[in-house]
Order: sequence, then structure tokens, then C-alpha cells
Amino acid sequence: MTMYEKLRPWTEIESCRCKTVTGLVLIDLLTDNPIHCASCRGEIDPERLQLTENEVESIVRWHSVASALYRLWLDSGEYEHYAKEKLLDPRGQINQQAQELAIAMSLRLPTRFWYFHDTEDGDPIRCPVCGNQLDAAVEWGVGICRPCHVQM
Ligand SMILES: [Zn+2]
Ligand SMILES: [Zn+2]
Repeated sequence: MTMYEKLRPWTEIESCRCKTVTGLVLIDLLTDNPIHCASCRGEIDPERLQLTENEVESIVRWHSVASALYRLWLDSGEYEHYAKEKLLDPRGQINQQAQELAIAMSLRLPTRFWYFHDTEDGDPIRCPVCGNQLDAAVEWGVGICRPCHVQM
């Protein structure tokens, strides 16, 4: 990355090239689109999924706040602790909204949302929402909780 790229739009977006998409994960990878393929982790264009205007708007609203918190945490400055607390709160706005989105989108394709964890705290074993053990059979990440639509 050259210094100029820091002020340029993200151009090296890895798009999903899977023939069929079998599942989705909502995850902020610091790009404009948080919809990713559950198999390859590549980005999936909302048009490919034929999302409705309402769905797109809801995703944008959730993502702007989730991304803001994530960036505050990454910055490790004054707001780091606050941001981490909110990112980890199962009853917090972003996690509740992400779960609602994942449930709604699952009518189309099985959808999970990425639940934040700080790698310095070790790998999570249990689902932060229901407390059950995570299913480790996952293409990327540590595990999933299907009933809660959680991936970590
Ligand atoms: Zn894919
Ligand atoms: Zn769970």
C-alpha cells in the first residue's frame, strides 16, 4: 500500500466467484459492503441477491454504526474501551440489528452475522448470545451458532 492509497477508495475488493452462494455472513471488513460469502469470504454484490430497497437501507444503517464502533476500537484511542464494550454487548444496538437482519435475510439464504471478539482475549468457545458451545465446523472464523445466526 502506498501512502496515497490511504486516501483512495478501497479498490482491491475480493468478490465472491462461487458458482452458487449457499450462505451469507454480514461482516465489516472495512469496505463499503458488509455482505460476504459464507464459503469464500468474498464480497457479494447486493444486486446478485436481488435485495429490496428496504433491506439495502437497513444493512447500510446497521453497517455505518457497526463500522464506526469497529474503527473506534481499532484506533486504540480514547474510545477503545467504550467501543469494545458495545461491540461485545449481545443486547447492544449493532448486535441486535445484525441478528434481525440475518434472520430476515435467511428467508432467502442462510445468513449469519459476525460477532466481534478481541483475538487478545483468546478464541471464543461459547456463543455470546445463548451461551451454547459454538459449532467449529466453519469455513472461516472460529465457529458458529446456527440458532442465534452468529459466526465468530
Ligand atoms: Zn463465495
Ligand atoms: Zn447462540
